[in-house]
Amino acid sequence: MTRLETSDCMWGVGLADSVARTVEQSAGERYSLRSFSCQAIPAPADYSRDNPCLIWIAWSAWEHMTLLQQQFFTRLESAPKVLLLDEDVPISHVEDLLIQGSFSTMRLPLKPEQVLDALHRAEEVAHLYADIYKMTQEIYLERELLARKNEQLSFINQFISRAAQSLEPAAVLNGACQDLKRLLPVDMLQGIFWNTEQPAPQNTLPGLEAVCFMATDKDSEPRQAWLHLLLDSATRATGQPVRSYQILPLASDGSTLAGIPPRPTPGTVMFLPAACGGIQFGCLALHTSSPVNLGRDQVELLHTAASHLSLALRNALLFDKARNEAEYDGLTMIHNRRHFDRRLREELTRHERYGHPLSLLLLDMDHFKSINDTFGHQAGDAVLMELGAMLKTTVRATDYPARYGGEEFTVILPQTDAAQAWTLAERLRTRIMGMTFNHQGERFRITASVGIATHTPGAQATPATPESLLREADEALYAAKGAGRNQVHWNMAEDHLQVAAR
Ligand code: GH3
Ligand code: MG
Ligand code: MG
Repeated sequence: MTRLETSDCMWGVGLADSVARTVEQSAGERYSLRSFSCQAIPAPADYSRDNPCLIWIAWSAWEHMTLLQQQFFTRLESAPKVLLLDEDVPISHVEDLLIQGSFSTMRLPLKPEQVLDALHRAEEVAHLYADIYKMTQEIYLERELLARKNEQLSFINQFISRAAQSLEPAAVLNGACQDLKRLLPVDMLQGIFWNTEQPAPQNTLPGLEAVCFMATDKDSEPRQAWLHLLLDSATRATGQPVRSYQILPLASDGSTLAGIPPRPTPGTVMFLPAACGGIQFGCLALHTSSPVNLGRDQVELLHTAASHLSLALRNALLFDKARNEAEYDGLTMIHNRRHFDRRLREELTRHERYGHPLSLLLLDMDHFKSINDTFGHQAGDAVLMELGAMLKTTVRATDYPARYGGEEFTVILPQTDAAQAWTLAERLRTRIMGMTFNHQGERFRITASVGIATHTPGAQATPATPESLLREADEALYAAKGAGRNQVHWNMAEDHLQVAAR
């Protein structure tokens, strides 16, 4: 659509000189008349340039025009046209044109008031078209605005539904990163989240306990830079230092991420708060492949997206915490009995299927009651905590330590026969014997008795069950206690024992 401006130019097509003069004189100085002869009918380019407010056409000129030339004038709806008729032109000849609305007729000779009247009507038409033009422009603008809002809504819609699809924080972040690519050239979305509860009173160290979700677990200089940025952002947001943190990889399938992340460079990192109910619990770090300048609309949309993402992340983090609490022992921070039971059942089925031996250790601290009686329950707790930490670092990555209950621990040893289990049990027993504990300046030691049970698929008449394996380990432990404590025993027939010992 071309812009309409009020023009002071009139066209005269095929007008006799006297008629042209009457038009010019009657219109006054404000208007000019551009005359075209019958041989030089104006073309579309002329119209674009002059944008005439009124076109005078002599009937004799009209009659000599080709159909194409006539169509050119017929289609100029916004320019009123006056056909100047000779005395003898019957009105029926022009009826078709008059029906079109933009043509009117006048008979010659022209009177000045007729010219003024035509110009007056032309002005009204011009104003009318200007108004229509303005309204159309507004409609176009509204339509564009609506289309943009529609696009934003569809983005937020997709963003929210994807964020709500998972309860794994890493998967939520990965999904959000994919969706944000619709808005920005985002190539990484990492985040740091911290505990919002006050630390327990006995916990004297101030500061945050945080978890960082990072795009790689390979130690590299860019990763260190990102880690610093994340830790700094947490401190800036809370005014507290990060006391301890854990780094988790962002691979959605839990596998290790390969590659080195891009280095954070000025203008490519954007921090967004992760907050729920007015409480900030994290920072989201967006990395773009190139520096970006965001419009107000985009900034608002980004913040809306971040607040929806926050809600999904908060749920996922709480779910993760609840799952951890359900599977880990709060004192020793190793797996609890509930998780152990499930794992033993799974491992036993797996080992039975593949025909691999599986061993189980049951450790019971000797005379633990006397530790509590002598140094107090808290000292006993501290010993159990240290034992938990020691177990985690002493066993192989594939072994599986858990707190069985009270002062008893257990270790599942996958693909381990009796002889290998004996070696590990001895190592643990001597390690425990070598540990020294300190309570208010008083040093003390403890010992442990260990029972071993091994399942070798096909060796026994009946397949082992978790209960039968535990009973065997418990019997061996009982034997170790009976034989004087601080020793390893297994509950096996003598011939098995010899096979295992070879
Ligand atoms: P032994 O096994 O050598 O026969 O003697 P014991 O004294 O270790 O045996 P017993 O089973 O009679 O006592 C276990 C003790 O462990 C009693 C209980 O108070 C203590 N205990 C169990 N759980 C905890 C705990 O979470 N914290 C502390 N401090 N003590 C615990
Ligand atoms: Mg016990
Ligand atoms: Mg005991």
